[in-house]
Amino acid sequence: MLQIKNLSFGYTETEVLSQLDFTVGVGENLAIIGESGSGKSTLLKLIYGEYDLEQGEIFWKDTKILGPKFNLVIGYDFMKYVSQEFDLMPYISVEDNIGKFLSRFYPEEKEKRTKELVKVVELEAFAKTKVKNLSGGQKQRVAIARALAKAPEILLLDEPFSHIDNFKKQSLRRSVFNYLKQNGITCIVASHDKNDVLGFADEMIVLHHQKIIAKDTPDNLYNTPKSPLIAAFFGEFSLINDKIYYAHQLKIVEQSDFKATVKRSYFNGQTWLIEARFNEQALFIEHHNALENGSPIHFDIIA
Ligand code: ADP
Ligand code: MG
Repeated sequence: MLQIKNLSFGYTETEVLSQLDFTVGVGENLAIIGESGSGKSTLLKLIYGEYDLEQGEIFWKDTKILGPKFNLVIGYDFMKYVSQEFDLMPYISVEDNIGKFLSRFYPEEKEKRTKELVKVVELEAFAKTKVKNLSGGQKQRVAIARALAKAPEILLLDEPFSHIDNFKKQSLRRSVFNYLKQNGITCIVASHDKNDVLGFADEMIVLHHQKIIAKDTPDNLYNTPKSPLIAAFFGEFSLINDKIYYAHQLKIVEQSDFKATVKRSYFNGQTWLIEARFNEQALFIEHHNALENGSPIHFDIIA
């Protein structure tokens, strides 16, 4: 189990993270979400041992994670960290980058393992390509495969699919997260993309103003968001009598006590998102077609 106990940290006098407490079970996938600047990357770096804590402790099983003041070489063999900058060797091939830290005394094993990981990140067609000739998203995939090469017990991923285009993203997410689950690798993912979280995280943490404001399953946080900030992570929502409703929980009807005025319609694929004004506030409703700007509507809440 990973244990974070009463952790506080700031780069300067100002605290970035204050008194965090949480645990992550072995083999679990934990998502860390929060606005830009909320401290997601900082938290991953602290877990990795990149900085000294101002206060608190971090343990992986019985090992206390130490920062640079107490540890000559940053990091531990059981933990890998894929940062937002991936730090690869540009002049050697994809497979050589991945296999670089595997023992050359077991060439067959090394080749098998490298092949397996090239497949996990779906880079079979580029195995022999020099990394300098890859796109940003392809480099990101090499960095993930390299982190997995020596079978870490725990993997820290910082916005792991941020550079990867939408054509590839979904299948890559499934491939990587399924691989981690199958191999019992504990995983902590910092993300601002709900698609990294919804189908994959066992639990999620929401960071806001130096604190954890929620820790629960994606299911619970989606269905009963305790604050607009949490709802905003999942989608467009409206506040009606201080309650939060997603766009699909409201419905346009012939008659009701709720009246609004259409502002704009946005094509969503399956439906349209109607932006309207209701009591001087923005209101979002899913609808099967676009509506004329300025037209009056009535809406209801779907139970
Ligand atoms: P996130 O990953 O959620 O966007 P970060 O952890 O990168 O947030 O940043 C949290 C806060 O710490 C921000 O206010 C950021 O400006 C500050 N910060 C991040 N890295 C450094 C650094 N190396 N030195 C000083 N301040 C930093
Ligand atoms: Mg970050």
